[in-house]
Amino acid sequence: MALELQFTPAQRRFRAEVRAWLAAHVPRTPLATLESEPGFAQHREWERTLAAGNWSMVTWPREYGGRGANLIEWLIFEEEYYRAGAPLRVNQNGIFLLGPTLMEFGSAAQKARYLPQMAAGEEIWAQAWSEPQAGSDLAALRASAVREGDVYVLRGHKIWSSRATFADWCFGLFRTDPASQRHHGLSFILVPLRHPGVRVRGIRQIHGEPGFAEVFFEEARVPLDYRVGAEGQGWHIAMATAGFERGLMLRSPARFQVAAQRLIELWRRRGQEADPALASHVAQAWMDARAYALHTYHTASRLLAGGAIGVEASLNKIFWSELDLEMHRTAMRLLGAGAELIAATAKGGGREADDANGWLEGFLFSLAGPIYAGTNEIQRNLVAERLLGLPRG
Ligand SMILES: Cc1cc2nc3c(=O)[nH]c(=O)nc-3n(C[C@H](O)[C@H](O)[C@H](O)COP(=O)(O)OP(=O)(O)OC[C@H]3O[C@@H](n4cnc5c(N)ncnc54)[C@H](O)[C@@H]3O)c2cc1C
Repeated sequence: MALELQFTPAQRRFRAEVRAWLAAHVPRTPLATLESEPGFAQHREWERTLAAGNWSMVTWPREYGGRGANLIEWLIFEEEYYRAGAPLRVNQNGIFLLGPTLMEFGSAAQKARYLPQMAAGEEIWAQAWSEPQAGSDLAALRASAVREGDVYVLRGHKIWSSRATFADWCFGLFRTDPASQRHHGLSFILVPLRHPGVRVRGIRQIHGEPGFAEVFFEEARVPLDYRVGAEGQGWHIAMATAGFERGLMLRSPARFQVAAQRLIELWRRRGQEADPALASHVAQAWMDARAYALHTYHTASRLLAGGAIGVEASLNKIFWSELDLEMHRTAMRLLGAGAELIAATAKGGGREADDANGWLEGFLFSLAGPIYAGTNEIQRNLVAERLLGLPRG
């Protein structure tokens, strides 16, 4: 059968509609970073604008604030979104991770309660899984949720929770069976972050902003219906969430295709002064971004045909995080030792300065790619054991 890589007329119309809406609504001046309090508020406002146009999560059913679009249309939306230079999604943990999780495991009442508020940007979500002694080895987590009558009493300490400093809710993993070990006896529980017994402490990151947070649960009491799925099913649900995160939703290919295009433009501006060998890195970045896009269209088509995301999600995560890092390293080499000067001298104006700033900030963030969403070392272990069938190391 011939391979058909053309978009259908309906998909082209959808693309045109997205493009027109974004052209009319994307803020002309970039928002402040969402890792800062004012920037977070600006990004929340942008989420409301998206929701007013029904664009916050196009794949969701209309009753929850979506458009009932399919995954191919979502990828088209993402391409247009990045192409238009639209703001980063402050609610990405909600719309990309918890949203699909609730669709699969939430009760009808939970879907009706949380999804529209999430789509509308009224409730911004953080993920609270990691603990000081449970990062890569997440099954070592100790935070507990002990049932007392009609509430759970939460105790414990979560860390590295992105955007929890300013977010409204978190979804966490807690040990509901005190006698349990490892991945047994865990439950997936939703917790308001401004709630008696919940204390949030920001952590300043490498760029100086406190977007990250530690979350302390000091006998916080939450109703039993804040639990998603059955008691003890938490690990299974969390792994499905991680599959959405690594395998498809968290990093759509458009992000890298736009970065690859910017890299080519940077090469055109600065390539003559740079090491000629960098040309091949620029070309490689473009090819890798394109390969990632084609691979993602393949994944989306597979899912539409009834397939599921499996352990190959780990390969995906390794690929996009290393691609991001490599593209930013190449940009840093093209900008050279004067990168910060270029960014500073034309601050507040000048495309070249804005672009240099973008690369500098992006470079710092790309360093975290091989760590968050499960480190690349752990993903390689998963690939070795579950995909290649190699013995456990
Ligand atoms: C930008 C960013 C955002 C994050 N956001 C969130 C969030 O929103 N919510 C959340 O819950 N967490 C979040 N995290 C935490 C992240 O999930 C953890 O940092 C990650 O899982 C690693 O855990 P750790 O930091 O405890 O490192 P460790 O687990 O202590 O690992 C240290 C090093 O040892 C390696 N290592 C550990 N075990 C093995 C092994 N068996 N084989 C080979 N190598 C191994 C690791 O790969 C790593 O290089 C975020 C982290 C970052 C950097």
